[in-house]
Amino acid sequence: MSKYVFGIDLGTTYSCIAYVNEKGDSQVIKNSEGDNLTPSVVEFEEDNKIIVGEDAKEDTVLNEDNTVQFVKSLMGKTDFAIEHNNEARTPEEISSYILKKLAQDASEALDTEVKDVVITCPAYFGTAQRTATKNAGKIAGLNVLEVINEPTAAALFYGCTRDSENKTIMVYDLGGGTFDVTVMRVNADKIEVICSDGDHDLGGKRWDDALMDYLFDKVREQEGYDGEFDEYMQQNFRLKVEEVKKKLSFREKVNGTFEIDGKRIKLEVTRKEFDEITKILLNETLNKTNEVVRIAKSKGYDEIDEVLLVGGSTRMLQVKDTICEKFGKEKVKIFEPDEAVAKGAAIYAVDVYLNNKKIVETEASDIIKENKLNPDDYKENLSVETEMIGVGGVFREIVTATTKSFGVKAVKDGEPICLNMIKKNELMEKGFIEEKRIFKTMSDNQEIVNIEIYESDYMDDVIDVDDDFYIGNAILELPRNLSKDSSIEVILKLNKEGILEVTGIDKTSGKKVNVKLKTKDAMTEKKLEEIKEKFQGMLVV
Ligand code: AMP
Repeated sequence: MSKYVFGIDLGTTYSCIAYVNEKGDSQVIKNSEGDNLTPSVVEFEEDNKIIVGEDAKEDTVLNEDNTVQFVKSLMGKTDFAIEHNNEARTPEEISSYILKKLAQDASEALDTEVKDVVITCPAYFGTAQRTATKNAGKIAGLNVLEVINEPTAAALFYGCTRDSENKTIMVYDLGGGTFDVTVMRVNADKIEVICSDGDHDLGGKRWDDALMDYLFDKVREQEGYDGEFDEYMQQNFRLKVEEVKKKLSFREKVNGTFEIDGKRIKLEVTRKEFDEITKILLNETLNKTNEVVRIAKSKGYDEIDEVLLVGGSTRMLQVKDTICEKFGKEKVKIFEPDEAVAKGAAIYAVDVYLNNKKIVETEASDIIKENKLNPDDYKENLSVETEMIGVGGVFREIVTATTKSFGVKAVKDGEPICLNMIKKNELMEKGFIEEKRIFKTMSDNQEIVNIEIYESDYMDDVIDVDDDFYIGNAILELPRNLSKDSSIEVILKLNKEGILEVTGIDKTSGKKVNVKLKTKDAMTEKKLEEIKEKFQGMLVV
């Protein structure tokens, strides 16, 4: 039995685990190397040993073919992350090693079991990506209480919910691989996501790429080098370039030592140069930010009261300065930006855990009353273990907005179209959103209806059918002799974890089909169990 519950920020480049300590403070747990952040890098060694974190990151140069980085960007999109020992490994499995390393190290550090966790994901993650995240937790042997949005976790950490007054806040989250911008309405009892947008290919790595290209040019000019930059050199540069970039957050200029054809050379970069070559990337984040502010305005939220900077890349001064200039210095908050999400998730984990427990207890107490049992015999089931966690769970309503649009394929005037039934950025007041619509059968004696679902970022009522957006289907079998134009009701229900339930009802016979959408890429329960079994007990270093 664990004394705590945990929050995990499963990041593209770095991951982090936190818990709420006895004093009620959210605290990051250091890994076995003594670091707060663990690189999200997994390496397979020849003897089947799996290495996660800093050592794996350093080995990317030497053991590139057996190393996986940026696996978060593959989650829910493909079944393949890497081939090892002639076996294709899924992104869920790779992510599970990262989770396992975090859990193992935290377990050792606190001398307790790590079981109940909340894992975070970007607000714009769709159904398949959220399911994959949850599955990664399951494979790692964890009990995933919930997968929550990173900006929601950040708002909890920054204490935005302490005041009773309503505030409109914006979370600008620039991490290692992704950019995420979200506008939320918060007060002491409620966090409401108004709208969000993001780019899953815009993060610190792109700043590294820009600096790397710039330095390659410098090497050609300065050193007269005219050879190729092979993979080894590129990897070596990548590690060094990140160090230079980080130092530029504190210094006006930095001298980095690099290796070219076995020869060590020194290259100087000034912050001015760095800012200049990456301005285009910063502008991309500003365009997304402006768009989200515009949508928030169109929903009646004219003024942003606070801007929270989250993600390691907001340590770059160009980000802080630009955002302060745009929104006003007094509105911008930046504090431990690379730990904020994990710490907020830990705060949320306590809330969820205690609230779940209260629900179970209320039910248990009702049963005891109804059956006139002696409550003393059921003490264990009834006491919320208050010593388990330093703080009491606060009930906060978290209202999220849809982060994708979901449409159904239909035929209009002989042409296939996609009708968006659930639209992106709609509030999910009750923790879910449900939309119903009546369609017609196409012909007499039609045997089935194939309800095909498409997930996209488009917010129009009708969009083109695009195979890239297809996520799955539900097949409704029809009774015999049904005539053309018979009514078929389609109900889409999306919950706050991004799981979509599709129901089709033949209104004539009442026949029904109901599926929790098995997305194209989400793993089946059977496959999940197989993987879980295979890797049970496996140690990760
Ligand atoms: P996160 O995913 O939030 O942990 O952010 C990781 C990204 O933040 C990586 O691209 C890091 O290189 C970047 N990062 C961390 N610290 C700094 C720093 N001091 N200056 C610039 N970038 C940083």
